Amino acid sequence: MDQLFLVDAGVLLTNWTQKNPEYPLATTSTIIDEIKNRPSIQRIESLISLDRLVIEDVDEIWIQEVRSAATETGDIAVLSSPDIDLLALAVQKFRSNVEVTVVSTDMAVLNTAHFIGLEILNPRGNMKHDIRWILKCPACGNSSANIDVVECIVCGTEMKRRPASRRRIK
Ligand SMILES: [Zn+2]
Repeated sequence: MDQLFLVDAGVLLTNWTQKNPEYPLATTSTIIDEIKNRPSIQRIESLISLDRLVIEDVDEIWIQEVRSAATETGDIAVLSSPDIDLLALAVQKFRSNVEVTVVSTDMAVLNTAHFIGLEILNPRGNMKHDIRWILKCPACGNSSANIDVVECIVCGTEMKRRPASRRRIK
C-alpha cells in the first residue's frame, strides 16, 4: 500500500515537497486557494503536471467527523476551514484503506490528526506531545473543560486556552 502525504498551505509554501521527491501528495482545493505567491503557485503547478500532487474535494460526512474530533481536543477554535477540509480528506482516504500522513507545521492540525489516529509529520521538527485543551481563567484560576465557555463563571474574566494534559506520542 502506498503512503499518501496530505499537505497543508504552510507546507506548500516551503520547498519540503522538493526535498522529498518520492512522496505522492494530495491536498484540497480550499488549501490551494490559500496560496497567493507566484513561486509557490508555480511549484504547485509543476507538482500537478508531474502527477505528484492530486487536488481533491471532500465529502461533508468527513468534515463533520473532523469537526467533532477537533471539538473534543479543543482545536476547533483555531482550525481554519481549509485545515478542516484537509483533515477531512485525510480521514476519507484513511477510511478507504489508503495509508495517509498529514504533513503540517500547524500544531492544531497535527494534534487533531493524531487524535483521529492518523500519522503526522511536522517538517519543522518532531512534535513530542499531543494536547487536550482546557480553558483557564487568568484572574482567579477557575478552569473549564468545556472549551465553548468564553467568560469565567466565577469572576467574568475572559478565559484563556491552556493545555490540560500532555501524552507522549510514540
Ligand atoms: Zn475567574
